[in-house]
Amino acid sequence: MKEKIIVVGSGFSSLAAATTLANEGKDVTVLEKNSQIGGRARQFKSSGFTFDMGPSWYWMPDVFEAYFKRSDKKVSDYYELVRLNPSYQIIFQDKEMVDIPAAYQELKALFEKYEKGSAVKLDKFLAEAKYKYEVGMNDLVHKPSQSILEFAQWKVISGVFRLQLFNSMSNHIRKHFTNKKLIELLEFPVLFLGAKPQETPALYSLMNYADIMLGTWYPIGGMYKIVEGMTILAKEKGVKFILDCEVKELKAENGKVVKAVTTKGDFEGTHFVSGADYNHTDKQLLSKEFHNYSEEYWNKRKMAPSSLLFYLGVNKRVKNLRHHNLFFDESFNQHAAEIYDDPKWPSNPLFYICVPSLTDKTVAPEGSENVFVLIPVAPDLEDNDAIRERYYNKVMDRLESVTEQKIREHIIYKRSYAHKDFISDYHSFKGNAYGLANTLRQTAILKPSLRNKKLRNLFYTGQLTTPGPGVPPSLISGQVVAKELLKTLS
Ligand SMILES: Cc1cc2nc3c(=O)[nH]c(=O)nc-3n(C[C@H](O)[C@H](O)[C@H](O)COP(=O)(O)OP(=O)(O)OC[C@H]3O[C@@H](n4cnc5c(N)ncnc54)[C@H](O)[C@@H]3O)c2cc1C
Repeated sequence: MKEKIIVVGSGFSSLAAATTLANEGKDVTVLEKNSQIGGRARQFKSSGFTFDMGPSWYWMPDVFEAYFKRSDKKVSDYYELVRLNPSYQIIFQDKEMVDIPAAYQELKALFEKYEKGSAVKLDKFLAEAKYKYEVGMNDLVHKPSQSILEFAQWKVISGVFRLQLFNSMSNHIRKHFTNKKLIELLEFPVLFLGAKPQETPALYSLMNYADIMLGTWYPIGGMYKIVEGMTILAKEKGVKFILDCEVKELKAENGKVVKAVTTKGDFEGTHFVSGADYNHTDKQLLSKEFHNYSEEYWNKRKMAPSSLLFYLGVNKRVKNLRHHNLFFDESFNQHAAEIYDDPKWPSNPLFYICVPSLTDKTVAPEGSENVFVLIPVAPDLEDNDAIRERYYNKVMDRLESVTEQKIREHIIYKRSYAHKDFISDYHSFKGNAYGLANTLRQTAILKPSLRNKKLRNLFYTGQLTTPGPGVPPSLISGQVVAKELLKTLS
């Protein structure tokens, strides 16, 4: 009998799992609760603007290329990528606005300007980061992390690499550099991993290699072009998509899931992969005896932050902003403490602003600007309109003052998005935006397992399981879980 595989959700991990399984001739159906494919990377259009709802940084282009190559395709078959220069802008605490150049020699000159001798140190730092990237991305992230034995042969065990796993990013960077601005620049990619630099293993300086050497890219038309490309490919391989179809239960009998009970009827299958938030699948779709983890386990997990987002349409061109802008004009440590140590709405948050219309004329009407604001905040906070508005005004005050222009009065479209929306749209655990933090205690085999221990045909994928949060890891997660599932058939 041909295996019939049901995939829950249509985020990057689910799309990757579905296509990898269909590539092997399996009959695959994706069930998605929302009316649009893409999960946290959905898109919406309003008043002539096209907004990406979630991810905006396109890093690690090699991961996307490798993904399409597995189906004998290229990224350029589906969307056009451009490399951004400057890669991004940082606004430091003294209000200095610094462009981070794409060209390595120019970046070295910038390092040298802030700290004498740091350009040579950067060479060394990045040579190590390159090694980690190659071992990490070619080997580590593709491990299903089901057993410590998977890592027995792993190069990481030896010498410097092991030390790097138990050292923190914070220490590692400070061993090489002393200038505060350079340290902030190098610590910034850690924000993608959902934990403080002090708690993130130094292994993840591989992200600095991705940032500096592999570059920051952008798909013309927006990040949603990736979702569209992956969906076209999935359909070419025969994957079926059923939208507005919320899975309410994964019904199990005799140690196996037998069907997905949904708002559009029952879907029987031989195997099930859930790319919905792990906690939701475990706690809300399965009966208690099949939960992989207890309530206590989940409450002890360190979640990556949630976000307060604003999608803004501005009826004029803006000045002094780049495509990506990091407002580090307040204390990084205080904001981090208010996310991780003493979770509360932050007093003076750092924030990030993306203006894709500076690169791409298709995402805003002529003469207008598409502005996306992201404030990282702790998960599980009270979320209401008054709080959102307070933070909108905080951000606008700083944005207008630092960039020396009026923006508020030019806003013709405004939508906010935070915890309550993450929960209602994605069944997000505690309203998290980026899943589970990549701390040492939540790495590899210490992450929630991609297999259910009691139901032999149920698998989990996505940013709460291995290898972790972010678009490239989610793409990899889908492929890893598909391979695990296929192993059980041989
Ligand atoms: C605001 C924001 C900014 C980000 N920025 C970046 C960035 O710049 N670069 C980067 O690399 N990463 C970024 N990320 C992270 C990245 O977007 C995610 O890691 C990735 O998209 C997660 O994919 P996923 O497949 O794990 O889950 P999701 O995208 O959450 O997909 C899960 C899907 O399951 C569906 N679902 C849930 N429950 C059910 C159910 N019961 N029945 C049916 N369907 C269900 C949901 O509707 C959803 O479509 C960002 C995330 C956010 C939120």
